[in-house]
Parts: sequence; structure tokens; C-alpha cells
Amino acid sequence: MRVEIVAVGTELLLGQIADTNSAWLGEQLALGGVDSHFHQAVGDNQARIVLALRTALARSDAVITCGGLGPTQDDITRESIAQVMNVELERDEALVERIRAMFSSRRRAMPENNLRQADVPRGATIIEQTRGTAPGLVCPLGNKVVYAVPGVPHEMQEMFVRAILPDLRRRMADAGEEAVIKSRVIRTWGASESGLAEALADQVEELDHRVFDDRSTLTMAFLASGIEGIKVRITARAMTEALADRLLAEEEQQVREVLAERLGDVVFGVDDEAMEHAIAARLIDRKLTLGLAESLTGGLIGARLVNVPGSSQWFRGCVVAYDSAVKHAILGVPPGPVVSSSAAEAMASGARNALGSDVGLGITGVAGPDEQDGERPGTVFVAIATPDGPVLNRQLYLPGDRDRVRQFSAISALDLLRRTLDGGPPS
Ligand code: ATP
Repeated sequence: MRVEIVAVGTELLLGQIADTNSAWLGEQLALGGVDSHFHQAVGDNQARIVLALRTALARSDAVITCGGLGPTQDDITRESIAQVMNVELERDEALVERIRAMFSSRRRAMPENNLRQADVPRGATIIEQTRGTAPGLVCPLGNKVVYAVPGVPHEMQEMFVRAILPDLRRRMADAGEEAVIKSRVIRTWGASESGLAEALADQVEELDHRVFDDRSTLTMAFLASGIEGIKVRITARAMTEALADRLLAEEEQQVREVLAERLGDVVFGVDDEAMEHAIAARLIDRKLTLGLAESLTGGLIGARLVNVPGSSQWFRGCVVAYDSAVKHAILGVPPGPVVSSSAAEAMASGARNALGSDVGLGITGVAGPDEQDGERPGTVFVAIATPDGPVLNRQLYLPGDRDRVRQFSAISALDLLRRTLDGGPPS
């Protein structure tokens, strides 16, 4: 079942309003397991609406139009559909009564124009209006169908959920093609988009050619999301939710194995799990507490960690040691340059002591734009200390302006901590 959306309204073409209706409908159709390959937007002009409808019907099984069902002369979706169906509009007397009653219940005079909303193409049925005056329409054309709903978003949404989606599902069940579409996002840090694509090239190729007996499909896409890493999204389309879940679980497992083998421990979570959730899970699992000493990140890492509900269980706190004197006095950093690996190491141990945590993380570096202690902007030192002493000391070179360097520093430090907690610093 292929469904096409035709959004009607000159204001959409002029950019006066954004076509959020098509976006919403597109998302709902995908969630409902319905293919939607085209969206069109067309102005309030009958010839062009007719052309848009004919184009849509030539390549899709069902069309949803939104907008142009109002009472005014430029609301001509009804007329356009009747023309495509090659039928007359008939005034539905029950609808006339309902519209009159609605106006009188609000003690308002009804402009005659409103009765246009009771006009229905012959052969069509109406979708009752519960929120406004314009009813929706279900217009059969052979074994295809055009649904018309008002442009007002909450009216459109209510009618879609109540009437259109169930009707589409019925049609899909009749055609033996009811399907569910589900996605899972595998989140990575430390590999480039091209590196991931290369590592998973065989997998993608295999998915492109795999033929399922039951017409299920599996696809994979790569999405760069800036400082939050690169996402690998797998999407399964299957006859039942349980089957879609199984396909996703199997594919996720394969992706994890291939990535682990080719790129190392780059996967830190799935779906909405951010890096701080990965840290929380590991600290809780190992019954460890964490303390931070932050310089160039100025508390960004601590702020990310307290995003996680219940973080007081494992997060002791953070010393924002920005001034060198604070690093020396509170964290016991020895005299000398404070942008250095020895300073980071002293900060990690100092955080453990000052905050009474099992694990300490220290981070210092140059956010820019100027050099500091002879180091270039983007030079960052991260160290991690445990009860057994220092376990990691790493120098990073991060790209971008001051803001990006600070953001990258925060997530990079958390990723190093994640990998360290997983059994040793990365190579
Ligand atoms: P009604 O008779 O209930 O007003 P209608 O079918 O005549 O509905 P339109 O006049 O086309 O609908 O649009 C009404 C309002 O709905 C617009 O002014 C706009 O605010 C909103 N709207 C219309 N189309 C869209 C769209 N595609 N995306 C988002 N909002 C829309």
C-alpha cells in the first residue's frame, strides 16, 4: 500500500506557513507500516489540485489531501476531488442541519458560505467532524481512495487517527500486506561516518540483496549527529511487531560484532541512550563512585552526568578548577604548567581525594582562541585515576572553535572513561 500526501494551500507555497501536516502524516504513516514515497504541496487552484491528485493516483494506492475544505471561495479541494472522480457535488442535508445546529448552539449567525462544507462528491462518505465544521471525506476511485481532511493540524490529526489509519489498515489487511515499521539507532563515538560505512559495507550490501519469504525488509542508514557521534539506524519492516523486533535484535547484534572486530569498542548505546547513560550503567554495575576535576570544560561534564536521574548514587561531584591557583590549592596539582599530562593526572587523583570518590577524572587543555602554556587551541589532556593509581593519561587534539572544543572535550573524556571502565584504556 503506497500512500501519497497532497497538502493544499497557497500559503504553503509562499512560505507563510511550514507544511508541518505532511511531516506529521509522514511520521504516522511510517509508524503504521505504510509506504509513503511522495509528498506534494499545491496552491488553491482547481486545475493544479486536479493535476496533483491525478499524478498522485497514478503512482499510489491512496492519497491524503489536507487543507482547502473550509467555507470560503478559495477552499476548492472538494470540487477538485469531484472533478477527478468525475461526479457532481451533492449537498448532504444531515450535514447542513449539523452545521446550522453548531452555529446556533454558539449563538452565532451562519454565513451561507458555510453550507459549502456540506457538499460531498457523489459516492464519497464523510469523516464526521468533532472539533470544527468541515467534515473529512473518504472518496473511492476504483480500488484506490482519496481521503480529504481539514488543514487545521489538530482537526487533521484527530481524523487521521480515528478514521484514516484504521481504513488504511483494513485495506492493507485485505491486500494481505499489513506491516509494522520499527527502527533502532546504534550510537557510536570514535569512528568517522566514512569509517563506519566502510566497516559495514558488506552488511549494507547483504541487506540490499536479502530476500525475505514474507516480504519483510531491513535497511541501514548512517546519520552524523555532531558532537553526539555517528548513529547507525536500522529499520525493519515486518508483518508483526514481534517479527520486526526480532529482525532488529539480530541485525543489531551483527552490527555490534562487525564494529567491535573492525573498529573496536565504538558503540556506546542505543536509541535515546546518551554517553552519560553509558557511564551511569557502568558505575552502577561496578558499584563505583566518580569525582571530576574540570578545567577547560568548566563543569560541562558534570552537567551532562547530572542529566541522568538518580546520579547522586554514583556521582560525588565536580571541582571546576579554572584558575591555576585553585588547581594547586584544592587538587594538589604541583607547581608548573597546568596544561600538561602531569597536571591532568594530578587533577584526577586530586578529584578522588577532594571528593572522596573511587574514580577520579581530570581534564585540562586549551579551548582557544589563544595558546596557553605553549599549547595550541584544541590540545586537551584527560587522566583517570582509580584506587590502584593512575590508569589513563591521554593527549587529544580536537577541532573547532572554543565552544566545539569544549563540547568535544566533554564527550571525549566521557568516552575514555567508558572504555576504561569496560576493562582498560583504548589503544
Ligand atoms: P477549516 O475549514 O477547518 O479551516 P481547511 O481545510 O479550510 O480547514 P485551510 O484553510 O487550508 O484548511 O487551513 C487552515 C489553517 O490550517 C491554515 O491557516 C494553517 O494555519 C493550517 N494549515 C493548513 N495546511 C497546513 C499544513 N500543511 N501544515 C500545517 N498547517 C496547515
